[in-house]
Amino acid sequence: MTDLASATRRRLLLGGFCLCCLPGAIRRGEASPGPFASEEIAEGIHIRRGVDEDASLANRDAIANIGFIIGRDGVLVADPGGSLTDGENLRATIRQKTNLPIRFVVMSHVHPDHIFGAGAFRQDNPVFVGHARLAQALLQRGEYYRSVLATMLGSERAGPVVAPTMLVSDKTEIDLGDRLIEARAHGPAHTTCDLSLFDKKTGTLFPADLLFVRRAPSLDGGLRGWLKELAALKQRGAARAVPGHGPVSIDWPAGSTDIERYLTTLERETRQAVADSVGIEAAVRTVASSERDKWLLFDEYNGRNVTEAYRELEWQ
Ligand SMILES: [Zn+2]
Repeated sequence: MTDLASATRRRLLLGGFCLCCLPGAIRRGEASPGPFASEEIAEGIHIRRGVDEDASLANRDAIANIGFIIGRDGVLVADPGGSLTDGENLRATIRQKTNLPIRFVVMSHVHPDHIFGAGAFRQDNPVFVGHARLAQALLQRGEYYRSVLATMLGSERAGPVVAPTMLVSDKTEIDLGDRLIEARAHGPAHTTCDLSLFDKKTGTLFPADLLFVRRAPSLDGGLRGWLKELAALKQRGAARAVPGHGPVSIDWPAGSTDIERYLTTLERETRQAVADSVGIEAAVRTVASSERDKWLLFDEYNGRNVTEAYRELEWQ
């Protein structure tokens, strides 16, 4: 495997895909169209809980928490879903609740499980909102993500790469008439293009994948940066937060305790491994092992997180 292919495969895995699931594509043909179950976690905010699995034909990459906010003048989609099918099901769910126009589709970061449903909303002609660095990240990875998703689900269910039409480089406010939603661009953390939302009306924070709960986090941006961005988000007085993976709503900032402990452990023990001249392969087997029983899919992600952390910290 070339370095490029290896790096791409690693990034793909970080995005929630599992390449070993690909043979399941021969079972293509099952369909699950229509609205799905969602929960109204605060006034006008509806969230669908993603399953705690890697992407597969069976789950249609519906593995992230996604949802929508209904305002007086329109709807904001807060992550359009992991595939065209997931996005179509989300759109059907929205249409069960309201006929207001879908004005904004926010794409929280480049990982496919959050954004490949965007194509389902093109017919609504919304503003597609993303981090200023999302466009470049999609140029680098989008087509590859799309092709693997197409192999897994069939090209008709994978979804197109949709570029953001409104870029956020610092922060901005989105107006739905009776509610303002702040969008904030973060420095390298979970990825290099993380965008969070804050609904001022209900005090609800949408950190997306800056917050994993129960499912093991995946590091694809910067470890020190992630801890810094988490610390900044904790300063925000929010009534609740919607994790990118895990329960649809948790108290904030109390809900950040586990991921902060994991990332802090990852940083401390990786630094120690570097200081002790422990090789990267040995570090992968030992760093953060005290966290193994605390996370779903730990063995699928921790080793790669250690590799990322080691490369970040070894030159300091
Ligand atoms: Zn992600």
